[in-house]
Amino acid sequence: MADSVVCRDKRGRFSKTLQETSEPEVAENIEIDHNYGVGHLCIAGATGCAVCCPGIDKLLGSTKINTSTSWHSGRRLVEWGTLLDHLKFCSRCYNGPLILSHETIKGEMKCGLGGYLYIQCTSCQELNRVPYGSTHKENPSSKGMPSFCVNTKLGAAHNGKNFDFRVLSTAVYNCNMYDNFTQIVMGFIDSLALFRSNFPKIEKYNQPFLAQHFCKEEYNAHNAVDDVNMLDKILIAANVSKELMLKLCYNSNSHLLQENFIKAKAKNLPSFHPLIASGVMKMTTAENIAGSGLNCAHLKLIYTRKGEDGLIDVLMSKTAFGKPRVSNDKKLMCSVVQKMGNMFSEL
Ligand SMILES: [Zn+2]
Ligand SMILES: [Zn+2]
Repeated sequence: MADSVVCRDKRGRFSKTLQETSEPEVAENIEIDHNYGVGHLCIAGATGCAVCCPGIDKLLGSTKINTSTSWHSGRRLVEWGTLLDHLKFCSRCYNGPLILSHETIKGEMKCGLGGYLYIQCTSCQELNRVPYGSTHKENPSSKGMPSFCVNTKLGAAHNGKNFDFRVLSTAVYNCNMYDNFTQIVMGFIDSLALFRSNFPKIEKYNQPFLAQHFCKEEYNAHNAVDDVNMLDKILIAANVSKELMLKLCYNSNSHLLQENFIKAKAKNLPSFHPLIASGVMKMTTAENIAGSGLNCAHLKLIYTRKGEDGLIDVLMSKTAFGKPRVSNDKKLMCSVVQKMGNMFSEL
């Protein structure tokens, strides 16, 4: 002990030399109060390092998880019930609740409109993965991450195939939100087609009639919100199964592809009129080529650059959906290309 410390002997008198007493043995790893030497001064920034945030390396190494403070900005769909349920206690030490603060949020993994926050437990430092929206799995026993309910939706509308879905697809596309939209709305289902094919004994299939038939209710069909709510009620009252809906639903991309095809066809078809008139190709083939975004000048350029083989490759190439651009009938394509080649070389 240091000299400056005043010591007393066993009898209570001041003494310069401290009498050796047998001190109780102390385990070495006990941290002494106010011992500033053992603390951890982190220089790693907001996320912390492996010492003050075990497991942070995994988050930093992941391409899907954002560990910067990107969760500060942007909008999300949060389901409070789910979020608070998962904040009740730490998955490792069971202390709770987990604190949601600037300091405890260490990262975020966004999944469409839902996502997970990585929140550090203030008791044991464990990183807890907390979803902020409800999730589901098609097969509960399967491994892998569940899907967020908000990201897996089917769009339903009565006579949607001819009206609602077309208008909606174009509107969403024009707002530059098409990629987001098709990620979340996986498919469309037209309830008019569904009722026609599966409930053959009903007199009429308009929605007000179905509302009367299945729900014994009347509603204002000219109010969009009432219309949507009523369709929901009808589908429940008619006991339409999930399986039937999945069977009749189709890709939410379809309408936009169709619209694009029609637009491209209208724009490009006139350039093929001379070829149709001179018997090089039939109208249907010309429509398919025009609808795929090509005009006669494009074909001529392909021909001068790569010859007949180049043309056949382009016309028979597969789209992202695995369908041929124009046709997969090789015989037909060869004869069309040959005639086209003759015509282009004459010009
Ligand atoms: Zn640290
Ligand atoms: Zn904990």
